[in-house]
Amino acid sequence: MEKIKLIDEKGKRIDGRGAKDLRPIKIKVHPLNRADGSCYIEWGTNKVIASVYGPKEAQPKHLQDPLRAIVRCNYDMASFSVDERKRPGPDRRSSEISKVIGEALENAVLTNLFPRTMIEVNIEVLEADAGTRCTGLTAAGIALADAGIPMRDIPAACAGGKVDGKIVVDLRKEEDQAGDADLPIAILPRTKEILLMQMDGDLSEKEFYELLDLLADACINISEMQKKALLDRYKQEEDVEEDKETEGKKTENKEIKKEEEE
Ligand code: ADP
Repeated sequence: MEKIKLIDEKGKRIDGRGAKDLRPIKIKVHPLNRADGSCYIEWGTNKVIASVYGPKEAQPKHLQDPLRAIVRCNYDMASFSVDERKRPGPDRRSSEISKVIGEALENAVLTNLFPRTMIEVNIEVLEADAGTRCTGLTAAGIALADAGIPMRDIPAACAGGKVDGKIVVDLRKEEDQAGDADLPIAILPRTKEILLMQMDGDLSEKEFYELLDLLADACINISEMQKKALLDRYKQEEDVEEDKETEGKKTENKEIKKEEEE
């Protein structure tokens, strides 16, 4: 089979990005009213929605931990999310991803504050174009913050790898499939503590550390976008509340004036 050229003579990738460039990211906080917290994210052509319920009493009871909350994650890829219809329901890949994301989030949340409870995180991939576990984890971090769940920091995630012998950040599907290595990581941006790290393919030690540095920087950028999206959303809500309050005061003053005139 002929190998596709993923990086041109000028060092540009198939979508024109340089090695360190992320795909465009759009974040919507709290798109769902019935969940305690939620986030919709478009990352390149990935489309993912994350929702959070809890903390609530852990059920069944034998799962309860008297010292802390447990975080349960369910990652699911819709059957229409990929080119060829995917068989719906859980499979080995989604079970693995649910497990690693759940463990990563559990290490970010201050679980000791909520003994015997469970925090449920659902990640629905609506469109997939590689990097969905990182997109899902990044969205879940925002959804947890939106639900008001205390964390050491909001986790941010990004994958990278080796493509045509070059180290690059944020692989798209062609790069993920035809590339030489794929390394997704999630960190707590404040301390750069690693919450998740997996690897497919081969990297030398030097390449590995080079990529890790680039991914840490990418996660810091993503973290800024997460914080901005949350601030924008709650600033908007505060502004609406303030407007309502000022409007209420104006009406009150008008009524007092009217009474005085009468
Ligand atoms: P990630 O999405 O985190 O990169 P993988 O490396 O396992 O996880 O998958 C890479 C990409 O391969 C996915 O984002 C998706 O586009 C595609 N893919 C994964 N599983 C399937 C599947 N069962 N059918 C079709 N495409 C799939």
